[in-house]
Amino acid sequence: MTWLDKLQHQSRQIRHRALDRHVRLGVTGLSGAGKTAFITSLVHQLTQGDCAQNLPFFAVVQQGRYLGGRLAAEQALTIPRFPYEHNVSFLQQQPPQWPPSTTGWSQLSLTLRYKAGQGLRSHLQSHSELELDIVDYPGEWLLDLPLLQLDYAQWCQFSWQLFATPHRQALAAEFKKLLSATDMTDASENQLKTLTDAYKQLLQQFSVTAGTYLNQPGRLLVPGELAGAPMLQLLPLLPEQVAQPSPLLQKLNSHYQSYRDYVVKPFYKQHFSQLDRQVVLVDCLSALNAGAAATAELSQALQLIMQSFQYGPSSMLRRLFKPQISKVLFAASKADHVTPEQHQALTLLLQDLLRQPLKQTTYQLAQTEAMALAALSASQSGFVEQRGAKQVCISGTDSATGQRISLFPGDVPAEVPDATVFAKHQFSFPSLLPLAVAVNANLPHIRMDHALQFLLGDKLR
Ligand code: GDP
Repeated sequence: MTWLDKLQHQSRQIRHRALDRHVRLGVTGLSGAGKTAFITSLVHQLTQGDCAQNLPFFAVVQQGRYLGGRLAAEQALTIPRFPYEHNVSFLQQQPPQWPPSTTGWSQLSLTLRYKAGQGLRSHLQSHSELELDIVDYPGEWLLDLPLLQLDYAQWCQFSWQLFATPHRQALAAEFKKLLSATDMTDASENQLKTLTDAYKQLLQQFSVTAGTYLNQPGRLLVPGELAGAPMLQLLPLLPEQVAQPSPLLQKLNSHYQSYRDYVVKPFYKQHFSQLDRQVVLVDCLSALNAGAAATAELSQALQLIMQSFQYGPSSMLRRLFKPQISKVLFAASKADHVTPEQHQALTLLLQDLLRQPLKQTTYQLAQTEAMALAALSASQSGFVEQRGAKQVCISGTDSATGQRISLFPGDVPAEVPDATVFAKHQFSFPSLLPLAVAVNANLPHIRMDHALQFLLGDKLR
């Protein structure tokens, strides 16, 4: 794209935005929450297959006004493109595989064509267009917002309180020992590298073995384009080490400031504040599988993430970044891992994790909604006969064994269970391989049409 093309592209975007025909939809969630699957499905649903059959609750489709969507031919070269086609090819392998997960910021632009249902345009124009930018970014980056309100010493206190929780304590012991034996007068590059590598390794261990969610700073585990940048040399010293001035403390203090100024603030200014709509995906079932401490930590992490959407008139977020997100969908992903009558409980559980009764409420300035969905349903639901009675079940391909299974995965609690329930009951919701899909066929999903209606319905009237 030449600079002239780029300029024309930008001015067209500004024109469309001014005419309310351009929406930037952010899709986020912590690692593994289902962002890649969600965007791949969303793009497929809007551009291929038989929408009328597959998206019955999306009003523009239901009313026969949706004329189709196509991927935009051009995209600014500076923005990584979401690898949609590559992801679809994984679903079409034999046997089908899940596409690789999100590792950073990426975007895909679509043009949606529809017939206006009301107003002057419905009489004057044969069709209207909505430009849709879908923006994928790791939810871990939203966990950095609270850092703007903590100084380095407070962040160290917070981190070590967290590392004292039962599912983290034993793993953190080694790193604690390393820090205790560290010479605080040595602020050399070598020393910083050793300590940061050890901290990064600890965060990785936390995330894979202990079912943790609240891993800060967000860019250490998911660095995106900043991999290797010096301000990512960041770790929490022990609370007693931040009480005394020292060269190492001074150095880490300055890295912490740089991280806030050159990583967190630019992300909110340049990316987050450009979003109009937002989806936050949450994998509640994996947290239940991982136990009481993991579930409590998911709730804590989600509440920190929600701070990014709580921009009342006097909030710090509004003062600094002027966000303009007007709708936020909180979605419990992978609802196909449970039987359909459990979906309502899954939605209630999500609301309990968020500590917000979200349905039909206006949360500060952004309208919010919560629902259970599956971007790419990997199961079929049905019934099996058990001792003469009909038992609801799902069937699919177990991802660990590759075998077909039919099972009732269990009840979903409608609220966060207390520790005694976890002590007596091991949740074990399955993990399934995707269903085989033929080229151009509809992708099976649960409630993606409801999600589209909430997110885009008002823009396609
Ligand atoms: P990301 O890290 O947020 O991009 O997460 P992904 O979209 O890569 O999803 C992580 C994993 O969750 C996938 O590899 C699948 O195993 C599973 N997954 C995601 N979405 C769905 C879904 O709709 N149904 C099912 N059954 N599994 C899903």
